[in-house]
Amino acid sequence: MNDPQPNNELTVTDLSKSFPTADEPLQVLKNLSLELNGGDSVAIVGPSGSGKSTLLQILGTLDHPDSGQVMIDGVDPFKLDEKKLAAFRNQKIGFVFQDHHLLPQLTVIENVLIPTIADGKPSKDDLQRATELIHSIGLSDRLGHLPSELSGGERERVAIARSLLMNPTLILADEPTGNLDRTTADAVTELLIELQQAQGAILITVTHSDALANAMKRRLELVDGQLVG
Ligand code: ADP
Ligand code: MG
Repeated sequence: MNDPQPNNELTVTDLSKSFPTADEPLQVLKNLSLELNGGDSVAIVGPSGSGKSTLLQILGTLDHPDSGQVMIDGVDPFKLDEKKLAAFRNQKIGFVFQDHHLLPQLTVIENVLIPTIADGKPSKDDLQRATELIHSIGLSDRLGHLPSELSGGERERVAIARSLLMNPTLILADEPTGNLDRTTADAVTELLIELQQAQGAILITVTHSDALANAMKRRLELVDGQLVG
């Protein structure tokens, strides 16, 4: 495992986002600000429709804000051209989704290596790191298995390993335990936090689960387009 990276930082300043509707625009995020450093973990909670997914999309650089700024390790991703942004996102941000988003035709190790494919063929170091990560998620004897041959919890663990492969600054998790039973969810939560802490990444989780939210260092609620502690 790599050393913790104390330089990891996320600064969000006065972020606003609205969506056009038939009458006046729907203002979802309103001057939202947030500052996090490596090792921080935050649960973002709030009722359905409060803007959690919108915020995660913007932090993941998959959608643009109307105004305000996002800085990841001192870089404003929205100032990068499309190609540089894709590379930046691949390096700096790991995504963990509720329904894992593994590719069904690829094996466990191939799925974990997906982030390296953007740069061409995986290097020897990539392979070693993927193997180490798969060891740390307890699936060393399943390297050649397909997602369909794994349980839900095992698939989610593979998704976590994939999100960490590039040693990202930011891990964004949208209901990562949403499809799992309580015991499996607890094990996946513990693993996610353990690996995030070991890498010194910033972890932001959107969840309705109290158990998952309580496992984070901070809980912030999205209320009227802003985060309140
Ligand atoms: P949450 O994830 O907290 O449930 P979302 O971020 O998905 O909330 O949505 C916040 C609000 O913005 C909702 O009212 C939703 O209908 C609206 N919204 C989200 N995406 C779009 C879009 N692409 N176009 C129009 N409205 C949207
Ligand atoms: Mg949502």
